[in-house]
Amino acid sequence: MSSGDAGARDAADEAEPLIAEARDAGIHLMAVPTPFLVGRVNCYLIEDDPLTLVDTGPNSGKSLDELERAIGELGHRIEDVGLIVITHQHMDHLGLLEIIARRSGAEVTAFHLLGPYLEDFSASATADDDFSMEVMRRHGVPGELAQALQMVGGAFRAFGSSGRVTTLVHDGDELTLRDRTLTALHRPGHSPSDTVFWDERREILIAGDHLLSRISSNPLISRPLAGHAAGATAADRPHALVDYMASLRRTQEMPARLVLGGHGPPMSDHAALIDERFRMSQRRAGKILRLLDDGPKTAYDIACQMWGNVAVTQAFLTISEVLGHLDLLIADGSVIEDDSDTVTVFTVRA
Ligand SMILES: [Zn+2]
Repeated sequence: MSSGDAGARDAADEAEPLIAEARDAGIHLMAVPTPFLVGRVNCYLIEDDPLTLVDTGPNSGKSLDELERAIGELGHRIEDVGLIVITHQHMDHLGLLEIIARRSGAEVTAFHLLGPYLEDFSASATADDDFSMEVMRRHGVPGELAQALQMVGGAFRAFGSSGRVTTLVHDGDELTLRDRTLTALHRPGHSPSDTVFWDERREILIAGDHLLSRISSNPLISRPLAGHAAGATAADRPHALVDYMASLRRTQEMPARLVLGGHGPPMSDHAALIDERFRMSQRRAGKILRLLDDGPKTAYDIACQMWGNVAVTQAFLTISEVLGHLDLLIADGSVIEDDSDTVTVFTVRA
């Protein structure tokens, strides 16, 4: 056995007591495969009345098979699900929504701005892709590369799904099941619709991708779901990392003993993990500031210097990271953004 396998086994051993703790609270983790780089996505079955499914996994036969088998092993059927809760707008979390809602007749609960978004997922995803394309162009990604990446994005769209949200929740709304109350809390940053579900009595937080144990959540620059127009000028682009850090600070204050994320094992010390995420951000911002020492750069220039070829194949993800950290540097007064030309450049403040 390679040391890698041993490492994975140790990690699994470590996770088991936390998974068991969730199970004791009637919350069952079901890791469903996805075609995405992130690997499996965590769906949760809450044995309560109604039987509740948190996130569905992507729209694929393989995911449906595995989800159905996992639900079956717990002694239930998809047809028994009475409530589907969606944590956010990404397709690895909601692609089976239409199929499961149709088969079960379940009610669907999601953040209120996801109602219109999910009415026509394909149109929403197309608008998101157009927005990403504008952001990439404005921040120095070569036109042909942006276009090629947009085509790749389009090819994945079938893993998503439209769906009718029957209960639209706002920040602070409560979901009442027979044995528990879950408070929906809006935590934008990773996506504009990120919603976490808090069981105050049990001190368990169902977090979606807001906080993950093994990887830091990407603060993706997403098209705003409502409010201002979907323009992509430098001045009005969303400040995803700034929003995300504000959301993390709110979560850090919560007395959670168990946090169940959308990928990877559960977490027992979320406050320390959030501190670690803050430290990583600070280090990364420092590195970006040093890269600007030798002159003005675009976000794409910086991404290429930091990640090489990954900045090409994952251009949107990496410039989202760079722009997020540049926003922090602009906020603390160390960097200036110049968007007077068609491509935005960033400079160290003299
Ligand atoms: Zn996500």
